[in-house]
Amino acid sequence: MSRAIGIDLGTTNSEVAIVENGKARVLPGENGDLILPSCVGLSEAGKLLVGRDALRQYAAAPERTIKSIKRWMGTDHKTTLGDRTYLPHEISAIILRSLKQRAENALNEPVTQAVITVPAYFTDAQRQATKTAGEIAGLEVLQIINEPTAAALAYDLRSEDTERVLVYDLGGGTFDVSVVEITGEVTEVLASHGNNRLGGDDFDRALQLHLKRRFQQEHKIDLPDDPVINARLLSAAEQAKIELSTHSFTTVREAFLATKGKTALHLDFELARTDFESLIQPLLDETLAAIDRALSDAELSAEDLDRVILVGGSTRIPLIQQLIESHLGQAPTDGIEPDLCVALGASLQAGVLTGAAIDAILVDVIPHSLGIAVAMDTPMGVMPGLFSVIVPRNSVIPASRSEVYSTFADNQDTVEVEVFQGENAIAQENVPLGSFHVENLPPKPAGTLQIEVHFDFDLNGILTVTATEKGQGQKQSLIVNDNRIDRLSAHELRQAQANLNQLFELDETIEVSAETTTIDFSPELIQLIEQATAKLETLEGESAEELQSLLDQIAAAPSDESIDLEVLQSELEDFLYYA
Ligand code: AMP
Repeated sequence: MSRAIGIDLGTTNSEVAIVENGKARVLPGENGDLILPSCVGLSEAGKLLVGRDALRQYAAAPERTIKSIKRWMGTDHKTTLGDRTYLPHEISAIILRSLKQRAENALNEPVTQAVITVPAYFTDAQRQATKTAGEIAGLEVLQIINEPTAAALAYDLRSEDTERVLVYDLGGGTFDVSVVEITGEVTEVLASHGNNRLGGDDFDRALQLHLKRRFQQEHKIDLPDDPVINARLLSAAEQAKIELSTHSFTTVREAFLATKGKTALHLDFELARTDFESLIQPLLDETLAAIDRALSDAELSAEDLDRVILVGGSTRIPLIQQLIESHLGQAPTDGIEPDLCVALGASLQAGVLTGAAIDAILVDVIPHSLGIAVAMDTPMGVMPGLFSVIVPRNSVIPASRSEVYSTFADNQDTVEVEVFQGENAIAQENVPLGSFHVENLPPKPAGTLQIEVHFDFDLNGILTVTATEKGQGQKQSLIVNDNRIDRLSAHELRQAQANLNQLFELDETIEVSAETTTIDFSPELIQLIEQATAKLETLEGESAEELQSLLDQIAAAPSDESIDLEVLQSELEDFLYYA
C-alpha cells in the first residue's frame, strides 16, 4: 500500500505531512519552506501561481490573487481569475494539488491518498466541499478529520491515565476550541465550539482600519478606497501584528499612499503592542466565551483540565497566551510549532488508515445538532416549524439514530421532511440542509400513521436521512449534499480535474482578463520606494532634495501620462545604488 499524506488545509497557510518510521514530519517545498500560503493567483503573463509566489503579488495585483478561500467553502461564492470564474472548492483543489505535488517531489513517489483536516465547527456542506476539492486534486480522501483532534494526536498525549485537554485553535480565518479526552490510544472530542469567521485576518483588518484612521488624523485627508492601497495596508498591518508578538513597539511605514497637491503622502508611525491589544480584545473575549461554552458542554470545569494546547499561528500573540492562562488557571503546553501540529496529526491518522505502525484510534463528534422541522403540541396549541433534534451535537461519529413521528391531519397523504442543523428551537433559525417528501401514504386518522426518520452520519461528516412509513414501508432518502453545488457527478469531477490539469500543465496559455489595475506600480518599484523612503530619513541637503523630487515625480505618474515611470525607476535604482 502506498503512503498516505496528512493535509492541514488552512485559511491562511497549508501544510502536508507524512509518517516515516512511526514518526510524523512536515514535508518542505523546493525552497525548504514548510508552510504553503493558501493563496492562488495568475501572474501578469497568465501563469498560475500558488503559495508564496501568489502571496507576493497580492499587494500589487489583488484582482489577480485569491486569499482566504476557506472562508467561502461550501458556498457558491464565485471568484474570477483570468477569464474564468471558480467556485471555492475549485480554488482549494489548486492548493491541494500543489501540496500533493510537494509531497511527490519530497518523497519521490506518487501520492494518491490523504487525510484532510477541517475546523471542528465546519458544516456538512463545508466538509463535503473539502472532500470534493481533494478529489478534483486527484486525491482519494480517506477521511476528513477535525483540526483539534489532529492537534491532540500530534502532541502524542498518550499516557495510561485519562487526560483532558483543551485545544484552542486560532488560525488566520477560523477559531475553534475543543475539549478532548485522551485515554491510552483513544482520542475523543467531548465538545467543540467555534466561529469559522474569526481569526488573524480579522486582527489584520482591525489594524488596517486603525492605520487608515491614523493617516486621516495626520494628513487630514481620507486614504483613497483603492484595492492596491487597501492590499498594501493589509500586508503592512499583518507584518506589524507579527512584529508585535515579539516586540513592544513597531514602526509602520508605507510610502506613497496618496498625494496632496504635488506632495506625496506616506504612512510612518510607531505602533505600541498595547494599541494593538485594545483593538483585538473584543474578538478575544468572544473566544473566551466559547471556551466556557465548550467546557460546559463537556460538563467540565477549568480545574478538570490536565492540559491546554495552543494551535494556529495567531496563538503566538502574547495577549492570547496571557488571557488563556488567567482564564483557565494554567499555562498552555509548549512543544510543537502551533502552525504545524495539525498537519502532523493528520499524517498520523493517514498512517493509521493505511496500516503504518502507529496505534492511534480516533473518536470524533458531530459539531451541530441535526434534526427536522415538526409540528408539536405545546401549551399554546399545535405549533408548526419547531426543531426536533435527532442527533444531538457532540454525539460520537459515526452516529446512526432514528425517531418516529406521526401525521397530524386526517388522511394526510404526504409528509415533507425538512432537515436542519443548529441549536435553535425554531427550525427555520437553523441551517437548512435539504428536504424531501414521502408521498402516497395510505389514508389514516391523524396521529395513527407513523414515519420513522433515520439519520446516518458517517466518518467523513456526510449525512444520509431516510424516512420510512412504518405500515406499508414507503421510503425516501436524501444524501444531504446531493443537491448542493459542490457535489459533483462523475462527469463533472472528470471535467474539473481536466481543468485543473490544464491550469497546472498549460498555465502559460491561460489568457489574463482585460481588467487593468488602478495603479501600475510593480512590486519591484514599491519595494524601491520603500527603501527610498527609509533612506530619505538618513539624508540631508542636496541628496535629500534630489531623492524627494524623484519620489514626488513617481507619485505623480499615475495621473500624468507624460511621466515615464521606467526612466524614473531606473534613476531611483541608480540613486539607491550609489547613495
Ligand atoms: P494558520 O492559519 O495557523 O497558519 O495561522 C495564520 C495566522 O497566524 C495569520 O493570520 C498570521 O498572520 C498569524 N500569525 C503567524 N505568525 C504570527 C505571529 N508571530 N504573531 C501573530 N500572528 C501570527
